Amino acid sequence: MKTIDEYNFAGKKAVVRVDFNVPLDENHRITDDTRIRAAVPTIQKILSDGGAVILMSHLGRPKAGPEEKFSLRHLVSRLEQEFRTNVKFAPDCVGPEAAQLAHELQPGEILLLENLRFHKAEEKGDADFAKELATLGDVYVNDAFGTAHREHASTAVIARYFPNDKMMGYVMQAELENARRVLENAERPYTAIMGGAKISDKILIIEKLLDRVDNLLIGGGMSYTFVKADGGEIGSSLVEEDKLDLARKLIKMAKEKNVNIMIPVDSIVADQFSNDANVDTALSHHIKPLWMGLDIGPEAREQYADVIRNSKTILWNGPMGVFEMSNFSVGTEAVAEAVVEATAKGAYSLIGGGDSAAAVNQLGYASRVSYVSTGGGALLEYMEGKTLPGVAAIERTDY
Ligand code: AMP
Repeated sequence: MKTIDEYNFAGKKAVVRVDFNVPLDENHRITDDTRIRAAVPTIQKILSDGGAVILMSHLGRPKAGPEEKFSLRHLVSRLEQEFRTNVKFAPDCVGPEAAQLAHELQPGEILLLENLRFHKAEEKGDADFAKELATLGDVYVNDAFGTAHREHASTAVIARYFPNDKMMGYVMQAELENARRVLENAERPYTAIMGGAKISDKILIIEKLLDRVDNLLIGGGMSYTFVKADGGEIGSSLVEEDKLDLARKLIKMAKEKNVNIMIPVDSIVADQFSNDANVDTALSHHIKPLWMGLDIGPEAREQYADVIRNSKTILWNGPMGVFEMSNFSVGTEAVAEAVVEATAKGAYSLIGGGDSAAAVNQLGYASRVSYVSTGGGALLEYMEGKTLPGVAAIERTDY
């Protein structure tokens, strides 16, 4: 497989799958352009070589056909500002107008296609739709790690129409390199921090991690399923009753594998799910009826920070509490600070997308950790040992 650095795009039209699924406000203004900035080096490389760029992406979750609020047209001026050039826009990603615009595209020019998900065929992985997208260019570059775990037309199926001219962009390469760093030969002590709402989303990754890590720190809503499984009284904290046996099994497995699994000893508790609730601190095993644990407590914060500061490899996925509410964000902040401290002392830290990435960005720590992944689901599936269709399609040579 070629890498983008080995390829000369001079005179070529590159169809580039990017992840421009950026948040927009009610006036269609971009509120966080991280994903656009991430794709710049790949686009720049193609343009500097003397190639033309045809950008395709999804945006949001349109239900049935085009919706103004999910139009990629809203990104045109941001891209024009970034690349200091006129950016052409195809109001449909396939069809005669897109074909005409692609045909007329000159070296150094950029064409942005309308939202792929305005066509149901995209998520279905429809081969005809993928083929039509493929006819727009001479070479295919996939730089959308966030959708690499989906076998969609633009993320995987399209690759078969470019048997020799397909490759990953810089974002994909960096994501895979960083994920591999914690999968293979991670320096010890290796600590994984798992938070977020539910265990059910993270069972497979937790099981896999038990074979690799020295410490597994549990936080967030999922802690209380572990606490209850361990015989604790959790009041009205979030719990997955059908996962109690599984939580017990994971605790047992951790012991057998000599993994130091930690469940928060104490919690910040509240009498309702609100930032205006009455707040107290309680032992996680003794939460009063009608009260709920919404963040890890001061003792747990200290213990977790201590383990993190002494780690050489850190993987973090999921917040320690309801960090969107200021009264329950302290645990997540304390963990973020400890990760930053460990990184400053030479540890390698990977922040798995989604909410933990948002928390690190919000706190302004993104540049003080080793790598912030852009792909929540894709990263977890990769770490679980699954093959990502977007990656496999680039690596396959049997078409
Ligand atoms: P996830 O998408 O599974 O990573 O979960 C992230 C969500 O979990 C965030 O929106 C948090 O507000 C929520 N969360 C974290 N801790 C708790 C908790 N103790 N109780 C309820 N929700 C929580």
